Amino acid sequence: MGSIMVAGGAGYIGSHTLWMLRQKGFDAFAYDNLSEGHRAAVLDADLVVGDLADSALVERTLRERKVDAVFHFAAYCYVGESVTDPSKYYKNNVVTTLALLDAMRRAEVKQFVFSSTCATYGNPVQERMDEAHPQWPINPYGWTKFMVERALADYERAYGLRSVCLRYFNAAGAHPEGSIGEDHNTETHLIPLVLQAAVGRRAALKVFGNDYDTPDGTCIRDYIHILDLAAAHLLGLESLRRGDASTAFNLGNGAGYSVLDVIRAAEAVTGLKVPYEFAPRRAGDPARLVGDCRRAEQVLGWRQQWADLPSIIGSAWRWHQLHPDGFAD
Ligand code: UDP
Repeated sequence: MGSIMVAGGAGYIGSHTLWMLRQKGFDAFAYDNLSEGHRAAVLDADLVVGDLADSALVERTLRERKVDAVFHFAAYCYVGESVTDPSKYYKNNVVTTLALLDAMRRAEVKQFVFSSTCATYGNPVQERMDEAHPQWPINPYGWTKFMVERALADYERAYGLRSVCLRYFNAAGAHPEGSIGEDHNTETHLIPLVLQAAVGRRAALKVFGNDYDTPDGTCIRDYIHILDLAAAHLLGLESLRRGDASTAFNLGNGAGYSVLDVIRAAEAVTGLKVPYEFAPRRAGDPARLVGDCRRAEQVLGWRQQWADLPSIIGSAWRWHQLHPDGFAD
């Protein structure tokens, strides 16, 4: 068996998946341009510092390291920014991903595990969205991921490149030992912001909207622990290696929590008060996004280990306490 290239392996989801691959004995390394990722996040794994747009370097790396599967996490992921700067998103998330797939074709690497998103569905027409939910994104970020999903279906037919697309809901939490965790240059995600507000590192959290059609008026999301997410990637790889058909899976908790639920759970976990104030709705936020993730359980045998909100927030809290400045690089 060949090695595994984790593109974006120095980022949040990539680094946790890289850690798990190596912990399970896979020969895996990171390929990352460190624009968003952190050198320290790969721990003791090999890191090739390079851009995915550098096709010659990608192809050489795939050949020299005898790669037989690529995990692809190297994408921009902020919905709001994708609206204000779509060019950045289409170039990196679509054009560069196609360059990666073409380098894989040339190097004859035929297995691809792709970071997709529930944002490919757009506005929910079901209480819990399953994989058959219509895909009609409502922001450029969702479109970029959807376009890659489409390209993958065509690349398989034409070139035999097989893939598993994993449609994430809200990734959250950190490695339970606190060695790696979430550290974005510009933090926009709820749980890190709640914890920073709790310790006074930022002013009161702004709760975006309290007039949604939900029980407490705030948005409901489906938070999934980062290591449960990572585990599903390994199962996706196994399914490709078994020769299963290319497919897509939702990865979420299956449970929905409101912004106020998250604040209350964070207060219970930390023993601190989370200062917050209500603010206008954030553009592009649907009221409720909850996944039906039974397919991953049934087909991949996936089981969540950290499904409850306090465990998810507790692991993020541990990371935050040990690394208040993140990776500090
Ligand atoms: N949110 C909030 N205040 C913040 C950041 C996020 O109220 O400062 C809300 C946001 O409107 C959404 C939920 O928290 O309903 C999760 O947002 P996040 O950005 O973490 O993930 P997203 O659902 O956008 O992928």
